[in-house]
Amino acid sequence: MVKERARILVVGGGYVGMYTALRLQKKLKREIKRGQVEITVVSPDPYMTYQPFLPEAAAGSISPRHVVVPLRRVLDRCRVVIGEATAIDHGKRTATLSTLATEEEGTGTEELAYDELVLAPGSIARTLPIPGLAEHGVGFKTVEEAIGLRNHVIEQMDIASSTRDPAIRDAALTFVFVGGGYAGVEALGELEDMARYAVRYYHNVDADDMKWILVEATNRILPEVGEEMGTYTVTQLRRRNIQVLLETRLESCADRVAVLSDGQRFPTRTLVWTAGVKPHPVLAATDLPLTPHGRLKCTAELTIEGATHAWAAGDAAAVPDVTAGEPGTLTAPNAQHAVRQAKILGDNIAHSLRGEPLQTYAHKYVGSVASLGLHKGVAQVYGRKLKGYPAWFMHRVYHLSRVPTFNRKARVLAEWTLAGLFKREIVSLGSLEHPRAEFELAAGGKPPHDPKGSN
Ligand SMILES: Cc1cc2nc3c(=O)[nH]c(=O)nc-3n(C[C@H](O)[C@H](O)[C@H](O)COP(=O)(O)OP(=O)(O)OC[C@H]3O[C@@H](n4cnc5c(N)ncnc54)[C@H](O)[C@@H]3O)c2cc1C
Repeated sequence: MVKERARILVVGGGYVGMYTALRLQKKLKREIKRGQVEITVVSPDPYMTYQPFLPEAAAGSISPRHVVVPLRRVLDRCRVVIGEATAIDHGKRTATLSTLATEEEGTGTEELAYDELVLAPGSIARTLPIPGLAEHGVGFKTVEEAIGLRNHVIEQMDIASSTRDPAIRDAALTFVFVGGGYAGVEALGELEDMARYAVRYYHNVDADDMKWILVEATNRILPEVGEEMGTYTVTQLRRRNIQVLLETRLESCADRVAVLSDGQRFPTRTLVWTAGVKPHPVLAATDLPLTPHGRLKCTAELTIEGATHAWAAGDAAAVPDVTAGEPGTLTAPNAQHAVRQAKILGDNIAHSLRGEPLQTYAHKYVGSVASLGLHKGVAQVYGRKLKGYPAWFMHRVYHLSRVPTFNRKARVLAEWTLAGLFKREIVSLGSLEHPRAEFELAAGGKPPHDPKGSN
């Protein structure tokens, strides 16, 4: 039984936001019913994105709407507000929100008072001031980016197939990915595999005409699966004719030419940036303590250091890893920790409201699985190393067991099964990005199409 009425504000509807709210609505079911507890979730999107499925969505193995979980459906005992927290004054217990409604009303922002704060806005791409990057690069964190990239790759093959200009053809068939973590490697692996399959339907484009390039600043890729499996991945990708350039940096991509630190230059119309993440900038607009890297300083109980009634987890939070031998070690920003932290976080808020002792978050990283295309993968889990088909199969089984809701599991499984029976989907629905283009043209306007082929 909670002592007082509590208004809980959850900022973010990703892994931590959604799983914490799910846990809270389960643990505090009676209190919510009696009106003692109110949970508000603020999220820019009405859905949670299951990011590990983005590479498969880009390859067309899973449809985009099955990679996301509708927040209103799963959080039926919470109030879901579509918008963003732009600032938080925890001293006053208020959050400034910019919502769809405030935009429409022209009021700009509104203030929301709360008693307990869960701050989980995740991370954004960590970029560098590289010439041309902001204009020509694309990230790989959202379902829009994954589907946009899929359409873009197929569109480049169409351009290459129909142009008579060899320079345009060469640039269209050159795909540069920067960053060798799982987002970059899986995205490249899946898209290359899809494109290699799709070329059979182009009479004048061969798989060997395409250049797929992975640029990584350190001397290894996929640190998540360990050194040995990382080396294996490099060998596998190179066997597929993918250029893996280690200890190499992107120096410029101005004028659509990727210039690398080893002096190589690649004219390209596709530059995917997956070189790490940094905490969401909204954290700087709060009065809460941050580490020098901009993450929220947290305790192992997932409270924010020195602040009462404030909680955090996931990519935005610097949580001590109590399982590590060395003091000062933090839990890595990944889904494995985010999901488990969310569960403890939800429980701890319930404990705190009931005056009970808090639990400590302790989880030893168990390793990782990565898909490198259809039937290709690499994994290191609980010290066991797997390659090729078994790793790919394990990747699918693991993520199927993890994707939230039975509904999504069933749909993803059905899609995989159907994909096994029929030919792969290679259609580009690029026009979906400009749904009014045709009508505007008919009505005498100018279609919003970039003939140079933007990302
Ligand atoms: C392509 C890709 C593949 C990945 N694969 C794996 C994998 O295989 N295994 C693994 O462990 N991890 C993987 N990860 C990492 C994992 O997805 C993240 O670590 C995890 O999503 C972090 O959870 P989070 O809740 O902190 O952030 P997120 O899940 O990113 O959620 C943050 C949410 O907050 C919202 N938000 C942002 N700003 C505001 C604001 N101002 N107000 C309100 N809401 C806001 C965002 O829109 C988002 O919905 C992958 C990531 C990517 C991009």
